[in-house]
Amino acid sequence: MPELPEVETTRRGIAPHLEGRRVAGVVLRRPDLRWPIPPEVSTLLPGQVIDSVERRAKYLLLHTGAGTALLHLGMSGVLRVLPESTPIGKHDHVDIVLDSGQVLRFTDPRRFGALLWQMPGETHELLEGIGPEPLTDAFDGDLLWRVSRGRSAAVKTFLMDNAVVVGVGNIYASEALFAAGIDPRRAAGKVSRERYARLAGEVKRILAHAIARGGTTLRDFLSPDGAPGYFYQELFAYGRAGEACKICGTSIRVVALGQRASFYCPSCQR
Ligand SMILES: [Zn+2]
Repeated sequence: MPELPEVETTRRGIAPHLEGRRVAGVVLRRPDLRWPIPPEVSTLLPGQVIDSVERRAKYLLLHTGAGTALLHLGMSGVLRVLPESTPIGKHDHVDIVLDSGQVLRFTDPRRFGALLWQMPGETHELLEGIGPEPLTDAFDGDLLWRVSRGRSAAVKTFLMDNAVVVGVGNIYASEALFAAGIDPRRAAGKVSRERYARLAGEVKRILAHAIARGGTTLRDFLSPDGAPGYFYQELFAYGRAGEACKICGTSIRVVALGQRASFYCPSCQR
């Protein structure tokens, strides 16, 4: 599943081809993806200039004067900018045709992706009430500390809650907790302010690193359990149950937290 670094890498890849371009037309080859595609995509988007391409959580937002197209890659979605003449494949569900002669093509074999619409000045319901972006100043250890007081949920489950902070998926939560030396099973409300400061720093470092690496080998290779190949070689905890901790040699353990496999070193993480 595309995680925040892959979505951000996609944004950086497509934005230069979209920003300032006029939408010449929209081709929908089916009426729905995960949800029905709203009529505004066909009625309002053509003719509009794409002012900017933003990312919020794992949504890509194509802003125009008439409103904003929201794209989500779901489980298997891919967005590419291609010459308009590129032959259509079986799973190429949407083309946003640009006045440059290129198209933004959305390909999604499993159709868990989404194309939605947001009117100017409105916030789509899927983007309401979600936490700050992890790579902005709004996210820091003080926020985690403040929001976690009194919470008995495991700190890893807490960190993966989109209402707390968006885009920290299972791999990144596991790795950040390892790097910060925090046991993922620990109650969120029992983690100190100092340790949350370290955790927030590790979340930022690991996500920024994954984004920096994502640009070159994105999706070309997936490890057997689906972790992006470029990142897999650098994992300390995620997917390594039974293997030796790279720091201390203790066997990495796995436990289910919030129905998600959670990997940790019982010696390095307290
Ligand atoms: Zn260890």
